[in-house]
Amino acid sequence: MIEEIAPDIFLIRVPLPHTPLRELNAYLLRGRAGEKDILVDLGFDLDVCEAALRAALREVGAKAGFDILLTHFHLDHAGLLPRMATADTTVYHGKIPWEMIRQWEQMSDPAEGGKFLRQSGVERDLAEIKSIPREFEVDWREMFAQSRSQELREGERLTTGNYQWRCFETDGHCEGHICLYEPETKLLLAGDHILGHISPNITCYNMGAASSLRKYLHSLDKIADLDVKLVLPAHREPLTDCRARIKELQTHHERRLEEIKNILAAGPQTGMEITGKINWAARPAEAEEQLRFYLFALGETLAHINYLLEVDQAEMTEADGRLYYQGK
Ligand SMILES: [Zn+2]
Repeated sequence: MIEEIAPDIFLIRVPLPHTPLRELNAYLLRGRAGEKDILVDLGFDLDVCEAALRAALREVGAKAGFDILLTHFHLDHAGLLPRMATADTTVYHGKIPWEMIRQWEQMSDPAEGGKFLRQSGVERDLAEIKSIPREFEVDWREMFAQSRSQELREGERLTTGNYQWRCFETDGHCEGHICLYEPETKLLLAGDHILGHISPNITCYNMGAASSLRKYLHSLDKIADLDVKLVLPAHREPLTDCRARIKELQTHHERRLEEIKNILAAGPQTGMEITGKINWAARPAEAEEQLRFYLFALGETLAHINYLLEVDQAEMTEADGRLYYQGK
C-alpha cells in the first residue's frame, strides 16, 4: 500500500514477516527534475521485502538510480541495502556504530552469547536460543563497502524537492540513529525513535557501559523542543501530537524504572529473575514466541537496570558466573 503523505513524500509499507512490528514504513522522498529521489529505510534482506519495495517504487514512478537514507542500522531497516544499492547509490546514515556492531557479532558467537545469557540467569538450552534466522546475519563491513556511504551528523542538511531536512542525532534505540526534521512543513522522519502504540525497544548488551536508556531519554528531550506537525515513524501509523507521545514514552520509562527499583528492593536477583517479575503489557501464549519475547524483554530490563547502575541507584555483584542486581 502506498500513500502520498505530503507532496512528493510517499509512504511505502514493506511487510516484516514473523515480527510483532508487522511492517516497515519506507518513505520515498521525490527529488526535483534532474535530482535523485531518496528512499528512507528498506526492510529485511528477504525476497518478500524486496518484491514489495520494488513494486511500490515502480507504482509511484520512482526514478532509476535513487539514493538511500538509513535512519539506523537495525536489519528491518538496513538489511536490504546490498540488494537495493548500486555503485552509484549514495547511502546517507548517522555515525556507523562499529562498537555496537562488534557487540552484535560477539553475541552471535555461541560461546560469547551463551556467556551473556548465563550471566543474566537464562536457563534455557542455548542451542534453542541460537536458532537465529538468516535475515539477522550480515557482514557490515562488506555492506558499507558496496556503496558510497555518507554520514549525516547533527545539524547537517539534506534537500529533497522543496524540503530542507535537518539531521538530529538520536542515539538510544540504536547507536547512530538519526531523525530528519523539516522546519517549514514541520515534518519529522522519526525512524524508530518515536512510534505510536508500541514503545521503541531499548536494549543493553554491555552492563556498566554508557546506558542506552539515558541516551534515549536525552534524545527524546531533544525532539520535544521541536515544533512538529506530523511524525513519520518507521512502523505503524503517522502521529500528529509529537509532544504528547514523547511525554507518554518518558512516563513509560519512568514507571518501569520505579517498578524495577521496587523489585530490586527484595535483594540480589539476576536479570532474568527481574524480567519475570515485571508486569509486561503483553505476554505471548506460544512457547516459541515466548522465548523470543523474553529475550527482548530481558534486553529492556537490562537497559533499565543499567540506567539505575549509572545513576547509582542499583549495584551489581558477580557470583558463580551470574550477575546479580540489587537496590542501593
Ligand atoms: Zn525498526
